[in-house]
Amino acid sequence: AKGSVTERIAFYEPEMDETARARRQIANDLRHAVDRGELTVLYQPQHELATGKLSGYEALLRWRHPTRGLVSPVEFIPIAEETGEIFRIGEWVMREACREARSWPDHLKVAVNLSPIQLLQNDFVAIVQNILIETGLSPRRLELEITETAIIADKLRALHFLRQIKTLGVSIAIDDFGTGYSSLDTLHSFPFDKIKIDKSFVLRSQQSVEACAIIKAVLALGHSLNVPVLAEGVETIEQLDLLREQGCDEAQGFYFGRPGLSPSLIGQAADNLQA
Ligand code: C2E
Ligand code: CA
Ligand code: CA
Ligand code: CA
Repeated sequence: AKGSVTERIAFYEPEMDETARARRQIANDLRHAVDRGELTVLYQPQHELATGKLSGYEALLRWRHPTRGLVSPVEFIPIAEETGEIFRIGEWVMREACREARSWPDHLKVAVNLSPIQLLQNDFVAIVQNILIETGLSPRRLELEITETAIIADKLRALHFLRQIKTLGVSIAIDDFGTGYSSLDTLHSFPFDKIKIDKSFVLRSQQSVEACAIIKAVLALGHSLNVPVLAEGVETIEQLDLLREQGCDEAQGFYFGRPGLSPSLIGQAADNLQA
């Protein structure tokens, strides 16, 4: 699913007609998803390991399709990237997440996933800035997550935008770290504020010596560059203990909580129950 447009075309076969039709339908329906209010954002907690404290939430997009039910972002984001719908969707998610975060306690950050395609918008930085002004969220409370693969695809462009984003006061996390092939040089020249270890390593950390070695290496790397490291996909206390032992800074995963309603909405729901 991570393949480029050309890869997908190369793999196209007649027997994939059904898949192609489904993709076309999704692409088509996606054009109305924002307007029809079919998109929602869920929030997954991120915790500081030294103190155990909640540090923020990652915003994760959900699409409630009228007939297909819940469609995974893994399925529809690549399609939205191909059709260009990601511009509208990406902007919607960011605005929604910033608006929600505005009503959370002031020390909590919100992390929003960025598609590399969004960096193709020349006015991308202005869009982010406008959303911050509109919602009144302090820039230091917004973190943008961008994957390693996305950065490698167009290094100079990514660097240009990320530097500008940083001047707004917004922070940048490198997502799914360890799955791409970025050089130490890329890491060093990019203005990252956080490294997120891909969940595939955390999920295998108990069984695989290699996965464990990669985690240690990423932690050493982050700390030598003075960049905090967050481990994603933490499901068990054993995984958490290992990460803590290794000096990991933050963690996120089902152990702490699944993606759920915004904490401000949960508050409202509780109020409603009491009323
Ligand atoms: P991601 O950014 O790597 O997000 C983490 C994914 O891991 C999420 O899946 C989350 O629900 C899942 N996860 C969290 N904790 C655990 C755990 O302990 N165990 C396991 N097995 N999984 C865990 P989700 O929400 O289905 O999102 C999948 C991907 O879709 C995201 O991966 C991200 O690449 C993309 N995505 C989601 N929302 C957005 C968005 O608003 N914009 C963009 N461009 N991409 C998004
Ligand atoms: Ca992410
Ligand atoms: Ca990730
Ligand atoms: Ca991922």
